[in-house]
Order: sequence, then structure tokens, then C-alpha cells
Amino acid sequence: MAEETIFSKIIRDEIPAQKLYQDDLVTAFRDISPQAPSHILIIPNVLIPTMNDVAPEHELALGRMMTVAAKLAQQEGIADDGYRLIINCNQHGGQEVYHIHMHLLGGKPLGPMLS
Ligand code: IMP
Repeated sequence: MAEETIFSKIIRDEIPAQKLYQDDLVTAFRDISPQAPSHILIIPNVLIPTMNDVAPEHELALGRMMTVAAKLAQQEGIADDGYRLIINCNQHGGQEVYHIHMHLLGGKPLGPMLS
């Protein structure tokens, strides 16, 4: 059984977060340390520690993460200029919180991906 992270507490409203969206499958909230004018994290409500733990039963939640990202990009007014979606995996990917999350970043030119 994977250990819960702070993100599970955010899903359950046990700690404060600037939530932008929540349904039965996913939750989206503003990153506490934004790296761009819009920096939103979109997470599955079920605890999946890393991309290595993704399984077919997660496909509905993972697909929902994508549609919510597109909806939030529109809502943030960054869809036309463009934005970046990132999922980090494990140490080399720079993952810090072991509950998978998609970063939605935009609101300024983001430059080359590996800068
Ligand atoms: P990672 O490096 O891909 O794991 O990204 C983790 C992200 O979670 C970082 O961008 C952090 O700023 C963000 N983060 C950590 N704790 C919180 C929190 O309590 N609320 C919102 N964002 C958080």
C-alpha cells in the first residue's frame, strides 16, 4: 500500500489549497510555488505514486486529467498562446511528491523544454 502524500489531504480538504476543479476522478489546484503565471497541478483522486504504477484501471482518471487540463487552460486564458503539460517520474524526472500530478504551466513563453 503506497503512502499518502499531502495531495491526498488536499483532495479531502484537510489542508488548504486553491482548488480550481474537483470531480469524482480528479482534482486541480494552484501550485504553491508557481513557476509561471499559471501553474496548476491536476491529480487523480486515487493514489498512483508514479507513472510506473499506472495501470489500465486508471485510464478513465488519466483521460479526465487531460480534458480538465484543456478546460483550465481555456479558463486561465492561456490556451491560444499555448502552455506546457508535464508529468515528472522518480528521481531523474525531478518528482518530489509521490502522487502523480500533471503540471499545467503557461502565461509566458516557457522556452526550450530542458532549460
Ligand atoms: P514534482 O517535482 O513534479 O513532484 O512537483 C511537485 C509540485 O508540488 C511542486 O511544483 C510543488 O511546488 C508543489 N506542491 C508541493 N506541496 C504543495 C501544496 O501543498 N500545495 C500546492 N502545491 C504543492
